[in-house]
Amino acid sequence: MARSTCRLCGECDIGCNDGAKNTLDFNYLSEAKRLGADLRHLSEVRRFRKQSDGKFNIEYVRHKPGGNSSSATPGEATADRLILAAGTFGSTYLLLANRGSFPGISRALGTRYSGNGDLLSFILRSDRDINPNFGPVITSAIRVEDDGAAGGFYVEEGGYPAFLSWLVDTAADLPSFPLRAARFGKNAFMRLIGRDPDTDLGHEISELIGPAALSRHSLPLLSMGRDTPSGKMWLDGKSLQCDWSVDQSREYYARVQATGKKIAEALNADYDDNPAFRYFEQVLTAHPLGGCPMGRNPGEGVVDSYGAVFGVPGLYVTDGSILPGPVGPNPALTIAALADRAAERIAAYRPGQE
Ligand SMILES: Cc1cc2nc3c(=O)[nH]c(=O)nc-3n(C[C@H](O)[C@H](O)[C@H](O)COP(=O)(O)OP(=O)(O)OC[C@H]3O[C@@H](n4cnc5c(N)ncnc54)[C@H](O)[C@@H]3O)c2cc1C
Ligand code: SF4
Repeated sequence: MARSTCRLCGECDIGCNDGAKNTLDFNYLSEAKRLGADLRHLSEVRRFRKQSDGKFNIEYVRHKPGGNSSSATPGEATADRLILAAGTFGSTYLLLANRGSFPGISRALGTRYSGNGDLLSFILRSDRDINPNFGPVITSAIRVEDDGAAGGFYVEEGGYPAFLSWLVDTAADLPSFPLRAARFGKNAFMRLIGRDPDTDLGHEISELIGPAALSRHSLPLLSMGRDTPSGKMWLDGKSLQCDWSVDQSREYYARVQATGKKIAEALNADYDDNPAFRYFEQVLTAHPLGGCPMGRNPGEGVVDSYGAVFGVPGLYVTDGSILPGPVGPNPALTIAALADRAAERIAAYRPGQE
């Protein structure tokens, strides 16, 4: 499909609306459709089991755009090979929820969860003009090697859309906001009644927003690396639960924080962690991994290195859930490479073949 040029708008975090990025709908999915695949969008898989003829029976619901689960309609499919690619939480949830139909699945299911060592922190009030709203998010990285006791990591710069800067600056400069809003309101009123035809709306809006001092001189840091994959996932009724504690990764996080502080010092700025980590030691992650970890045998993992589920011929998992530990850098490309590697093996599989 045609691709457009990047507008340098810094909106990558919320999805590129300009078609300047590669996503599955632009590459693998369009190609699959071209080759005749039946793509059933808005469809959520709920249950699956093996039939007596060895094929998989899959039950799903088809959601209506904007509808709720009561407006969803049921659907069904059969397949001789079933590939779960619902992500770390989705695939782990589906295997846990359908475990009753596959009693031989490894006890490793739900283990080796990791947040890929993510830490969101902030460089604040630098004396330099940083302007995180310009250009794509993440254009550079500092790599810090393993030090023997703790895993290595990357520190990357996180840009964000301009509208978030407005929110940040308005919140930071809240005490003077009513005055600025009143001034803007007065000017708007004068214009309305024709007393002030000499308008400079751009200047007035910029006065309303304020000097943008905090956002122009601050920057989120996105760190990620090799924490300890000590988390667990399990089902509580119908809900997936996930428990991971910083306890076994303290040295790792201490090194990440120390590096962030050095960057702040170099930029003559303050350093701060996000409040969830600072007050509650809770990690916010965009990179959850594990839950259906790969291993050399069923005692060690749920799948082999091609995503084949031990003990269930024809069933595969090909997403971030099969990584038995943190990747280190942003993991999407590694996950895609693993899935691509598994695809050839899966395409060659026929029922009855072990
Ligand atoms: C804001 C944000 C920014 C990120 N930026 C980067 C980055 O710059 N670089 C990078 O490497 N990584 C980035 N990541 C991480 C990256 O997106 C993930 O690591 C990657 O997409 C995981 O791939 P996956 O195939 O495991 O799962 P996903 O990409 O999550 O795919 C799982 C799919 O399964 C679907 N699904 C779930 N349950 C069901 C069900 N029951 N039935 C049917 N479908 C289902 C989901 O809707 C989803 O489409 C970012 C993540 C976030 C949230
Ligand atoms: S900066 Fe990001 S969101 Fe904006 S056009 Fe470029 S790739 Fe897309």
